[in-house]
Formats: sequence, C-alpha cells, structure tokens
Amino acid sequence: MSNSTTANEHSVSPQDQSQGQAQEQNHNQGLEVDAQALVAQLPALDYDNGALKIEGVSVATLAKQYGTPSYIYSKQAILDAYHAYSDSFAEIPHKICYAVKANSNLAVLGILAREGAGFDIVSAGELARVIAAGGDPKRVVFSGVGKRADDIRFALETGIGCFNVESDSELELIQSVAAQLDKIASISLRVNPNVDAKTHPYISTGLKDNKFGISHERALEVYQQAAQMPNINIQGIDCHIGSQLTEVAPFIDALDKLIELIDDLRANGIELSHIDLGGGLGVQYIDESPISIADFAATLLPKLKALGLKVYFEPGRSIVANAGVLLTRVDVLKPTQHKNFAIVDAAMNDMIRPALYQAEMGIIPAQLTTDSADGAKTWDIVGAICETGDFLAKNRKLTLAVGDVLTITGAGAYGFVMSSNYNTRPRSAEVMVSKDQHQLIRQRELVEDLFATEQLWQAD
Ligand SMILES: *Cc1c(COP(=O)(O)O)cnc(C)c1O
Repeated sequence: MSNSTTANEHSVSPQDQSQGQAQEQNHNQGLEVDAQALVAQLPALDYDNGALKIEGVSVATLAKQYGTPSYIYSKQAILDAYHAYSDSFAEIPHKICYAVKANSNLAVLGILAREGAGFDIVSAGELARVIAAGGDPKRVVFSGVGKRADDIRFALETGIGCFNVESDSELELIQSVAAQLDKIASISLRVNPNVDAKTHPYISTGLKDNKFGISHERALEVYQQAAQMPNINIQGIDCHIGSQLTEVAPFIDALDKLIELIDDLRANGIELSHIDLGGGLGVQYIDESPISIADFAATLLPKLKALGLKVYFEPGRSIVANAGVLLTRVDVLKPTQHKNFAIVDAAMNDMIRPALYQAEMGIIPAQLTTDSADGAKTWDIVGAICETGDFLAKNRKLTLAVGDVLTITGAGAYGFVMSSNYNTRPRSAEVMVSKDQHQLIRQRELVEDLFATEQLWQAD
C-alpha cells in the first residue's frame, strides 16, 4: 500500500489502517458502498421506496427544482449535531464556537446563531459573515496564523470575545492596534502541544513542525510577556491539533499538556478563565467509526470538571459534514478497455476533498434500481475539468445510466466553501431543507458574473 493511501484523511488508527487495506483491495474489484446501509448510519437521509430523501424532500425533486450540481443541507442534522455538543457538556460552563470555515453560508450561521452558538473565525471576512447572519461578536474567537493589522482592528471595533494568538509577533501587533484604538484585547495563546493527531498530514496541526501555535516550551514566557502589555487581557489557553480525528486519545494527550501549563501559569501568578480544546472531531464518511460526541464528552469531563475553567470547543466538520450532500448528474458514460469513466456535472472545483486529501466519500444513487446487480460496473466518477486529479471517487461499483442523479454524502463540511471557478465553472447552488420545506440559500452563479469585474486591456 502506498504512503499516500495510508495517509488517507480517514485512516487514523491501526484498526482503521487495516480497514484502509481492505478498502484498497476492494478497489481492484471496485468498492461497493451499500447505499441503504450507509444511509442508515447518516442523519437526515433515508430511502423511501427506493427514492432518496433528505428530511422529508426527495433528492430527485431537489435536483429538478434547483438543478445540479447543488449542495443540499438538513437544518435538523445541523441542530442535532450542535445540541449533541451543548447537551454533552451541559454539566460544566462551556461555549461551542462553530468553526465557520467548514461551511460559512449565512443560513447555516444564522441557524446556529439562533441556538446561541459562538463562532471560531479565521479571517475578517468570516467575522463579517457572522455579523451579517445575526451572530454575536462577543461570542467569537479569532484563530489563524496570519492576522493582519486591519483584521485585528475590525475585530476590536466589533468587540469580539477573544483572539487565539499564534505567535509573539501577533501578540505585539494586537497590543499596538489595541493601544491605537484605546481598547483592551482579550487573548488566549494557541499552544502547540506536539501531539500526533494521526490524521492526514495536510490536516494535522498540533505537531512541532506544523506552522500553528506557540510551542509548549515557550508558552510560559509568552504569557509573561502578555501580562506586561497594557492593552492585553489574558483570558485563556487553546489548542487545535488537527481534523477528522476518530479517537479521543490525542485530545486527552493535548488536554494533559495544557493542564500542565495551566498549573505552571498559576504558580507564576497567571490565572486563566477558559480552556479551548479546538475542533477536529471526525465523522463517518464511509466506514470510519469515530468516537461519538457524547463519548468524547464523557471521556473529557472528569478532567475538565477538576480544572474548573470554562471550556470552549471549535467544532466544524462534526457539526455540518453529514448534514450536507452534493447532488450531481451523470453526463457521459465512457467505458474504456482499462477503466470505466462516469463523467458527472460536479468536479474538483465543486468538491476538492478527494483530489486534495485522497478523501473517500459516499456516492449513492438518488433512486435505487430494482434490477439485480447485473448492470453494476466499476467506475471512476470524474468531473469534466482538464486535470487528471479531477475525480470524485475511483473504482466504485455502481449501476449507472446517463442522466442519473448521484448523491455525494458527507459534503456539508469543506465542500462548497472550498469550491472555485476553475475552468470558468459557476459555483453551485446551495439549498436548505427542513422537514418538507426547502429554500435556496445561495443562488447558482451565472457565467457572466464570473468575469463581471474584469476589464479588457486598453492602454495600447
Ligand atoms: C479548522 C479549525 C477548526 C475546525 O476543525 P474541524 O476539524 O472542522 O472541527 C477549529 N479550530 C481551528 C483553529 C481550526 O483551524
């Protein structure tokens, strides 16, 4: 098995790696995802007489009304995942700051804002979205390694809750901008605990050679510098070790490292009011079995209770991934001597996870066929973009016909937000479903929108 396969975004434990091997073997014959079994594991989706529904609405209806490719989200699934966090940590003071970058559509943010969620942002643009969606800036934490003076100014003017500081120079910049504005900036230091999240290298962030955070060894010194700064109010400590973690052990390791530091800080007269454990909890895409939010909480609670600080989390993927699907239509079937290609109307510009992280996502039919599996062939599901890396899945055993609607599951996180206009392809529509209601929450782009701000060269 090649390195890039073992590094698959969802193969994290030795157990998962052997699953990965099994999957690789399956690939040679074609991975057959049992659509009904998968749907039984995922929220909001259900086959009703062979027709796939999201909440109470058939996917075929949505594809017809909104066209394809389209992202569809379940409001109930978003709410349920959010409440799984807030209920599981109900015994202790906590704040769930949804990581906006996972899915930043205003409708998604608005639904969470109405539940009282906080937000984890990584840019001034995301802060503007939170405010436009009715979110409370006081419940915002601002993460990210490259905050600029204008981002910091905007965040201070809107009155965000806390900056998650990632370097000495950022701390100095926040102090100087806050002094200019005559404001006090509340801060937390993002500590890099040097734990291995055992996830895909591109989404592992808590190792000492990652660009994120301040090393555990230097943290005390940086806190002491912060304590000297007149416009800085030390509020907390945070970490974020990676994404799509399916086990709780790396979170425990990180928490233990942070607790050590908190004790050290106390001994040096620095008292914190919150600890922020970041995001990163994984989800089931096909055959992963991540720890549930409730079990995650139950494992962490004893240590957190003993600590006595307010606890923040910054979940993104685990709130929205399985609340969303991407609908796409089969445009061309191209069997060749070596491989069968199904060319669909979604491509890597719409969903980049398979190309970027070798992510395996569920691809299931909108309508189950009643004929026996005779017609099933092994297909690469690819987009129409001029890149060999433009695939959504490889070697999937499916019965396909031109015009069929396919549903890519687990598409609610890091889906639309990572889409681009490569090949001058308009970005897709986004739709929210709640029970039997549905509403367009982002219009499909028009081709003329894509170059509306460009100009012909006029000088000579
Ligand atoms: C991306 C990110 C998150 C969210 O991660 P998920 O894996 O989507 O839960 C939280 N905090 C920070 C600092 C991040 O960069």
